[in-house]
Amino acid sequence: MRLSRRGFIAGFIACRVCAGLARAEEAAHWSYEGKDGIADWGRIDPTYKACSIGAQQSPIDLKQPMPAQVGGLHIDWKPEAYKILNNGHTIEAVVNNPDSVKLGGEVYQLKQFHFHHPSEHAVKGERHAMEIHFVHAHPNGDLAVIGVFIKPGARNAEFAEIMALAPATAGEKKFGTPIDPNRLLPKKRIRFRYEGSLTTPPCSEVVDWNVFEQPIEVAEADIARFKAIFPMNARPIQTTGRRFLLKGI
Ligand SMILES: [Zn+2]
Repeated sequence: MRLSRRGFIAGFIACRVCAGLARAEEAAHWSYEGKDGIADWGRIDPTYKACSIGAQQSPIDLKQPMPAQVGGLHIDWKPEAYKILNNGHTIEAVVNNPDSVKLGGEVYQLKQFHFHHPSEHAVKGERHAMEIHFVHAHPNGDLAVIGVFIKPGARNAEFAEIMALAPATAGEKKFGTPIDPNRLLPKKRIRFRYEGSLTTPPCSEVVDWNVFEQPIEVAEADIARFKAIFPMNARPIQTTGRRFLLKGI
């Protein structure tokens, strides 16, 4: 299901995303604060232009959604002994399983999932403690990202294990035993859906966003572990503009 039409420019940017995923380490340096910070992203590199001139940017405030059938979402993820990477911007679990989701009849492969503190999306102006992004790619370059909010509460064993292994500085570590990513999903599956962008450079507008309304709970101490490494890695709220924001099951 297409929520809006994308022009050839989006297709061009999608190829940049493919290239970007393959060799992210060669991308121009950016950061959240200070030099090369959020306000400068669009000026750092010509391929980052969408960060400043894009009209379908993410994250957004999830408010006043239209109740709707948001399109079938079938998640097919399996446990894996992930490589856990500190890439200088976040902690990322690198996926090698042929995990996938089916969204509106299209199949997307899970590439990685990573974390933001605080959450990037807001719900009626309120941000959660954290947000997980499960990044899936379609062979045509489109992305489908599943967003899961995190709030402090009961301990989540999977989250605790990832944060215990997370490298404090740039580098990677590998799990010896599998982690089940399905345990990082909320029970209630009501979700927001809209068309947006990557929330980091190059801010490409190729993302079909699916954000669950119900947060999962994790131990406050495990949130603190992430916060000690990345105190702030969330982009500010972007204008929704004329986009449709849908909410449903
Ligand atoms: Zn993200």
